Amino acid sequence: MEVLTADFSGFCFGVERAIEVVIKAAGEKERVVTCGPIIHNPQVVENLEKKGVAVINSPDEAESDMNVVIRSHGVEKGVRELLNGKAAEVIDATCPFVLKAQEQARELSVRCGSVVVLGEERHPEVKGIVSYAESECFVIAGAAEAENLPYRKSYGFLAQTTQNNEIFEKISAILRGKCEELTVANTICSATARRQKASAALAEQVEVMVVVGGKNSANTTRLYHLCKEICGRTYHIETPEELDKEIFRGVSKVGLTAGASTPKSFVCRVREYILEVSR
Ligand code: SF4
Repeated sequence: MEVLTADFSGFCFGVERAIEVVIKAAGEKERVVTCGPIIHNPQVVENLEKKGVAVINSPDEAESDMNVVIRSHGVEKGVRELLNGKAAEVIDATCPFVLKAQEQARELSVRCGSVVVLGEERHPEVKGIVSYAESECFVIAGAAEAENLPYRKSYGFLAQTTQNNEIFEKISAILRGKCEELTVANTICSATARRQKASAALAEQVEVMVVVGGKNSANTTRLYHLCKEICGRTYHIETPEELDKEIFRGVSKVGLTAGASTPKSFVCRVREYILEVSR
């Protein structure tokens, strides 16, 4: 049996960079904490804990001797301000693409007066982006919600960085009918688009597709649904032990992909596990 791994699987640039920032800070400073888990991957968070990096779940927990790292998908403007006032140091590991989306939200809100963000309303990255809008701001999860938006003179439109380009284009077309002037800032990160494209292409060639990553990771869940639409036998797992060997009976080609919060070494472990159980 062959196990093929999709290109661009696993850690993206922003996550890799954030983890490097934390490890470097932990080696140089006392009491390094992250504001929320650094990524949606329990194994990575556990490893960092072993290096003495704790997690605080809200800025209220910040203390004056703490060095607080802001994770790759950023924080709300108010949270950043609170941390600046409370912690010894705020170390910003927000991904530059997320910072760009926050800045676009501010710019579009000033220019258009109304902003639409495609994304998951409760996701910290989206909350962060929305907090930078200085005017009315709608968060929509898909086309149906776009159809229900009120008519406005002008809208600015952007997205959570991990959204899908096709859906973004579809909603842009809907929004053109909802205002006189639409300004679009495609803030979808190229890492996500590349991973989705490579994973979809692989899902077409295989009989079983395995998607690795946290069940609470938005980009992994999206990757799972994308692959599932193409390959009905797609499984979303966090650890290789969740895979029943029966899945691979009679199968000659398995595809493997992983969301942005999964280390590449872990993807290799899953690959080895599949090869082992299918023997
Ligand atoms: S998915 Fe893209 S925007 Fe998000 S952290 Fe990774 S590189 Fe940055």
